[in-house]
Amino acid sequence: MSNPSILILPGDGIGPEVMAEVRKVIGWYGEKRDLNFDLSEDLVGGAAYDAHGTPLTDETMAKAQAVDAVLLGAVGGPAYDDLDFSVKPERGLLRLRKEMDLFANLRPAQCFDALADFSSLKKNVVSGLDIMIVRELTSGSYFGEPRGIFDLPDGQREGINTQRYTTNEIRRVARAAFELAKKRGNKLCSMEKANVMESGILWREEVTWVHENEYPEVELSHMYADNGAMQLVRWPKQFDVIVTDNLFGDILSDCAAMLTGSLGMLPSASLGVLMENGRPKAMYEPVHGSAPDITGQGKANPIACILSFAMALRYSFDQGAEAERLENAIETVLADGARTADLLGPEDGSPISTGEMGDAIIAALGASL
Ligand code: NAD
Repeated sequence: MSNPSILILPGDGIGPEVMAEVRKVIGWYGEKRDLNFDLSEDLVGGAAYDAHGTPLTDETMAKAQAVDAVLLGAVGGPAYDDLDFSVKPERGLLRLRKEMDLFANLRPAQCFDALADFSSLKKNVVSGLDIMIVRELTSGSYFGEPRGIFDLPDGQREGINTQRYTTNEIRRVARAAFELAKKRGNKLCSMEKANVMESGILWREEVTWVHENEYPEVELSHMYADNGAMQLVRWPKQFDVIVTDNLFGDILSDCAAMLTGSLGMLPSASLGVLMENGRPKAMYEPVHGSAPDITGQGKANPIACILSFAMALRYSFDQGAEAERLENAIETVLADGARTADLLGPEDGSPISTGEMGDAIIAALGASL
């Protein structure tokens, strides 16, 4: 059997810095756990634009389609702000998501105990929090037609976006969410606005259909998305898995993510249909961007990117126990007081560097054996 393959796309800004720490972790798994991957690396975003005049070449796109999983750092930066929209770094990312048809975006919001004080909510509200938001990523109002800005006969202008969903689009993301719920707390909450939107009525009906026909053993509830936003900050621990559309998911997942503190801690996975080998099309990436304000200074927190690799272990490579080992190592390092600058207040002592955080995690992994 050949090793599973991973395409590494470090990207721009702090992307390469945090990805270097992920490489250390991947190396450790090869050496100590006999878990080997065929790694390849390529350019995306501004780095690809500088080399090739495009944020993602056709060759890189073909490689991404061929591997078992893509691991991406971050794209963008001030040097590219004035580029034409069609070649902006973010277009590389959107092309990957679109052509790989990554319709389910998984955003965990997990509060490490050592960081519970870092949340803007009270410690007892967030301590031990572990929820997963599944956002539909390839349809809804960010893609629906008609869209555009149009001139009206009376001289005004009109901006239009269209919220549309089909049966299949709803059912496939619902299935992804039910599958996750089965592996976690067996509870799924679906959020929409069925009180005021027809697309919300269809969403509720189709999620209910999938529940009744395919996952009756999972506990399903429905909630209007505005109430969902309130409940997320009131008592987030009532949730296990949440499934929602592209627009509401964009907002709700950012809200849930911030319950846990720093942007430097947040991983994500985007999954598509199952490939012939039984693995889903998949891309793993931290939620944060390229952080130009701290690039090249050794200040970036590599944990979001390392946790994204943990998600790859769990969702692409069926290595749930090893994913847990990695998450526990991070928990240990944080409990021991290791902090990059983003995890410290102004009077909280001195930070460690990106590389030191990576080394501390490797040491904790070593101690777990
Ligand atoms: P950002 O996420 O890059 O940074 C926001 C703030 O969080 C900054 O102060 C940054 O220093 C800090 N931060 C982010 N990640 C961190 C980490 N790992 N460790 C420590 N601190 C961290 O968002 P932004 O400043 O709005 O955008 C910068 C660039 O990144 C823009 O070009 C934007 O388009 C791009 N961007 C890319 C992605 C992506 O690649 N997925 C996502 C968001 C933004």
